[in-house]
Amino acid sequence: MRATQLFKTGDIRTVDVPQPVPGPGEILIKVEAAGICGTDRHLYHGEFPSVPGKTLGHEFSGLVVDSGDSGIAEGTRVTCDPNTWCGTCEQCQRGRVNLCTRNVATGIHRDGGFAEYCAFPASKAVALPDDLDPLQGAFCEPLACTLHGMDMGAARPGERVLVIGGGVIGLMAVQIARLAGAEVMLLTRSASKQALGRETGAHHAADSETGFREVWPQGADLVVECAGVRETIALAPRLARTGGRVVVLGVLPQGAEVSVEPFDLLFREVQMHFSFLNPFTHARAAQMISDGTISVAPLVSRTITLDEAAGAIAAPALPGEVRAIVVPGA
Ligand code: NAP
Repeated sequence: MRATQLFKTGDIRTVDVPQPVPGPGEILIKVEAAGICGTDRHLYHGEFPSVPGKTLGHEFSGLVVDSGDSGIAEGTRVTCDPNTWCGTCEQCQRGRVNLCTRNVATGIHRDGGFAEYCAFPASKAVALPDDLDPLQGAFCEPLACTLHGMDMGAARPGERVLVIGGGVIGLMAVQIARLAGAEVMLLTRSASKQALGRETGAHHAADSETGFREVWPQGADLVVECAGVRETIALAPRLARTGGRVVVLGVLPQGAEVSVEPFDLLFREVQMHFSFLNPFTHARAAQMISDGTISVAPLVSRTITLDEAAGAIAAPALPGEVRAIVVPGA
């Protein structure tokens, strides 16, 4: 079968590999859709720790073709929670499973979804409806991560929520904030993403701090940073109102630093939180996509084949692109 593997920093190729054989506790999934995430590009550039020779792809869904001893009916469409916590380390024992020191992430530490087939832990598969558009299953993982961050931010009805960054994470954060009853603004540079933000629930859109201040001069109750660049991580606390809070979802390369002004954060008592992965949120994400509570169809920018995947990961996202989805069967 074909699979897109990262051999080392800067060397990604779609190659022929043997079809995986599921081990104990695993099922075999015929991958229907796998999203290319910013993290895949970080892995390619060596900005996120990786394991050489693994098939990438951690946002994927597909059909169960070998259910092993799982009891899941063959033919079931499933979404895959890629993070397998150990359950025994100190963090897992404290319920902080996303901080597990022995987490095995499918698509990073073990072969993932940029392939025709993937052997996957049955306990981490969540069933999706038969009639769901297969492309939509690929959005459960990013939604699960966004839900964790938005749980942390705990937007309340009537609050002002600013989302920075109009990618998949930001456009989902906009929708979750709107569902919470907040007044929502999306700050992102491109006009097409601002338009998508308005279409999916933002009351306001801005392209800069100046545009934001024109609408909310006093700042936002909650700022959700979803751009993942130094500039916006430094900007986020400045745009929170006095007594406000910030949740950072964006990932910077390991070792990158950002300057903040502790005096300002202290005197305005701005709370800063950082949200990592998807503890116990994957099933909720699957439910919200299955029942249409979160709209993901507008977030599909293009579909590509497995043979096109390596080039797409090595290159920056296309202008205005939100998500490219790899469809292995295409
Ligand atoms: P993405 O597609 O790269 O979206 C980020 C968006 O931010 C871009 O589309 C860009 O849109 C906007 N942006 C960039 N620079 C900006 C600036 N200076 N001002 C305003 N907007 C700016 O990424 P994504 O997939 O949505 O993910 C967002 C971040 O979350 C990434 O860093 C990703 O690695 C991270 N992430 C974190 C978790 C977690 O568990 N914490 C999980 C998944 C992803 P414009 O061109 O319109 O500005």
